[in-house]
Amino acid sequence: MYTVWLVRRIKVDIIGAGLSGLNTAITIKERDPAIKVIVHEKYKEIGYNHEGRRCGEAHTVESEWIKWKPTGKSIYNTILHADVIIGKKHYFAQRPPGVGFILNRQEYICQLARDAEKHGVILQTNDKIKSVDNLDGDVIVDGSGCPSTVKRELNLGTGFTGTTYQETMENSNCFHADTIQIIFTNLLGYFWVFPRNPEKKEINIGVATFGKFRYNLREMLTSFKEGNNITGTVNYVVGGLVPLGLQRPFLYRNILFVGDAGVGAFPLTGQGIYRALMSGDIAGRCIAQMKLKKYPSIIRKEFMQWDVIGSIFIKMNLIFRKINPGLFITSLNFLAKQGKQLSLLTH
Ligand SMILES: Cc1cc2nc3c(=O)[nH]c(=O)nc-3n(C[C@H](O)[C@H](O)[C@H](O)COP(=O)(O)OP(=O)(O)OC[C@H]3O[C@@H](n4cnc5c(N)ncnc54)[C@H](O)[C@@H]3O)c2cc1C
Repeated sequence: MYTVWLVRRIKVDIIGAGLSGLNTAITIKERDPAIKVIVHEKYKEIGYNHEGRRCGEAHTVESEWIKWKPTGKSIYNTILHADVIIGKKHYFAQRPPGVGFILNRQEYICQLARDAEKHGVILQTNDKIKSVDNLDGDVIVDGSGCPSTVKRELNLGTGFTGTTYQETMENSNCFHADTIQIIFTNLLGYFWVFPRNPEKKEINIGVATFGKFRYNLREMLTSFKEGNNITGTVNYVVGGLVPLGLQRPFLYRNILFVGDAGVGAFPLTGQGIYRALMSGDIAGRCIAQMKLKKYPSIIRKEFMQWDVIGSIFIKMNLIFRKINPGLFITSLNFLAKQGKQLSLLTH
């Protein structure tokens, strides 16, 4: 008598070929090549689309993040200095070479996509997922960014968000290839000036506010540019929501939420690139082991501490704002003086 083993191949559907979706796909395949992985991307092209541009592109790789060090054409600039301005005080941070970068994020996403294909991931472009019910994977990963496609459809809770507006300007008088600037304002937010494509002397200059205020961000940025004599020709405009900190739930039924859809960005500075990559890595490992329930606990362990501090800080300042907006700068200076916090602010 023969025993017939029927081995059913596990299938994973991933929504979104951004950093989080692609890194989840790569990690799954690295861990278990037998799992069938399909990444669905709404745009015709991966990376070179509007979502690929929707970022300041500043990225740092330290300690365990070193494996996501960009290479070759993915790097526009190596950052050696961060100038964080809080009120009238400057907090400078030096970075050793090979740690801070301005990405050519579109190219970086393409490199991840090529890597994913080499691992046998199926990439389906021009494939907008309208409903999670249209997917038949054993596991579904939502890497659709913020606001999350699936969370909107299933009416799942969302977390704390901020709003952003960014212009790319070429031939700018403020292009400094090795320096990023972050300037906090008492309107509960910050401006940034990051060097972009050196060939065009481009900068990414933007503004973010914590919470949903009715500010006209475009006007705020225009007066910031005028006040600081920043010149150049605007050639691209982006903006939108930035999820500040963890965006629960991280797991719902067989759906894992990665990147902006799940772990959001660092609450105080909006850095989301490393969190998108890290959460994709963690999700991929949990899926390859088919231990989905481990995902939320690892995410909490990894991100909770600084998220609690970050979200308490922002909530506290929402109250301060009603009393005196200047208190934001005072409390931020206090946080920055703690040293460790400053290094996080400038990561
Ligand atoms: C203006 C701005 C500046 C920022 N600056 C920085 C910075 O300097 N440094 C930093 O670290 N972080 C920054 N961030 C945050 C960072 O961009 C995000 O945290 C990061 O991009 C999240 O990656 P993700 O892969 O989760 O989502 P996304 O990059 O949003 O990718 C989502 C992907 O899913 C696709 N998609 C969406 N819906 C569907 C659907 N229904 N079907 C199929 N595909 C779909 C999209 O087309 C996209 O390709 C910034 C954000 C903004 C808005």
